[in-house]
This record gives sequence, structure tokens and C-alpha cells, in this order.
Amino acid sequence: MLKNILIIFFVSAAVAVAQVKVVTTTTVIYDLVKNVGGDKVEVDYLSRGDQDVHFLEILPSYMLKLRKADLFFKVGLQLEMWAPQLIDGSRNSSLKIIDLSENIAPKEIPTRKVDASLGDVHPFGNPHYWLDPENAKSMLQRIYEELSSYSPENEPHFKENLQSYFAKLDKKIIEWEEKMSNLKQKEIVFFHSAWIYFTDRFGVTIAGYVEPKPGIPPTPSHNASIIKLIQKNKINLIVMDVFYSDSAPNQIASVTGAKVLRIPTQVYGLEKNSSYIDLIDYIVNQISSNG
Ligand SMILES: [Zn+2]
Repeated sequence: MLKNILIIFFVSAAVAVAQVKVVTTTTVIYDLVKNVGGDKVEVDYLSRGDQDVHFLEILPSYMLKLRKADLFFKVGLQLEMWAPQLIDGSRNSSLKIIDLSENIAPKEIPTRKVDASLGDVHPFGNPHYWLDPENAKSMLQRIYEELSSYSPENEPHFKENLQSYFAKLDKKIIEWEEKMSNLKQKEIVFFHSAWIYFTDRFGVTIAGYVEPKPGIPPTPSHNASIIKLIQKNKINLIVMDVFYSDSAPNQIASVTGAKVLRIPTQVYGLEKNSSYIDLIDYIVNQISSNG
């Protein structure tokens, strides 16, 4: 009897060891890791989908999550300005930190040094690259490599998951491009500069931003210039993420008649966007049907 119990104990301990413990900063990376890792990973995220990752308030529970983790995936390009403090606080010397921006080509890299005191939160280029599904593929590839290097015995499993997810994503990309094809050159005003990767992929034009600079709240004088721009170029859409105050967009809309669309940029930004594919589906459907 005791021998059987011991065998059960050792077998289940071995299974537990085989699971890679992953923490991600965002819900998009969380979903991508789940799709590659399947049941061989235990994955958790820090920033909720309806929170602004730029300005996440660190909770003690985040450090506990990191203390027990093997791998920590982040977006990089300073999106998670709070990450170093969190990593220090976790006191986990064996934690491997993976910056997924290393695998993509950043856009909007400033040509001169950005003065952080001015509050611009994109000092190393635009960090919102996951909104281009082709970049999601680069992220998935890196996730596959890191999981396989940490847990080589599960590499065939990760590879199979990666390939079947790529096939699914490639089909969706064709569908998304088709839906967006009637919007080519259409001008949209966005709240925050989070959209360049999406608009470059799908051919929409960014006319301007409600924020005067990334991370800087709207001002009356900048609102007035956006109102002029909307009227001059006959723009009918203002797109903003779910966590921003809608007071400036609504004020601009009330003067111009443009429509304000609240669209998340993360998984679970709205409850129904429960995966990366769901999220891009939702964004494409919202923009194409209101465009
Ligand atoms: Zn940003």
C-alpha cells in the first residue's frame, strides 16, 4: 500500500516538474503562450485586458507570481516600465526574462532622444506591435523556442501546437485582409498611438491622435486642432481603448458628429474577447462595419 502511494507521489511529482511555469505581462502574450504550450505549461498574466499596460500599478501578488515562475515574457520597448522593480522584488534569481520585441522590427523609433520628463511613453519606438498578426507569428515562434529550450522533452508537442496555430492564424489573416480591403486609405483618429502596426498591415490611415503625445492626456488646444482636422478631412471615426476616459473623444464627437468606438487592444479587454484571434476579429469587425 505504502509503496503504491509512493509510486503515485513520484509519478505526479514528475508530471508537475514537466510543466513550465510562465508569467506574462499581458493577456495577449498569455493567450499565445497557452496556444503553444498547451497542457505542458502553467501560465498566468499580470495586466488585465482592461488595464493600461503603460501605467500598471504593481501589486504584491505580482511578485509572488514571479517568485514561482520559470519564464517571464514581456512586450518590451519600455511598455512595461514597471517590470524591473517587479523582477527585483520577486527575488527569483533563476527567472528567465524574455523580451519579445527582440523578434520584431519596431516602428516609430524616435530620431532624437525623447526627454522622458515630457512624459512620452514610447521612447524606444512604438511597443504596440502585437496588433499586426504577422508580428504575433514572430512572437509565437520565439515563445516556441523558449519553451522548447526550457523543456526539450516537450519540444515535439510545442512544435505541433505552433504549426496548427499558424495554420489557423494564416486563414484568419486572409479573412481580415479581405474585410479591411474596402477601407484602404480611410482616415481614422485614434486616442493613443497604439495602432501603427495594425493600420500598416490593413491599409487604414491614421489621421491623428487625441493624446498630444503618447501617454499625455488630452488638452483643450490639442482637442481644438483635432476638431479642425476631423472637419477638414471629413473623418467619421474616433477609436479609443476601453480603459481611457471618453470625455475628450465625446467632446470632439459632439462638435464634429464623428462616432467614438471603444475597442480593446488586449485579450479580455472586453469579456467576449477571450483569445488573440477573437480580439483581432472584434477589432476588424468593429472598424470595417463602422468605416
Ligand atoms: Zn503606448
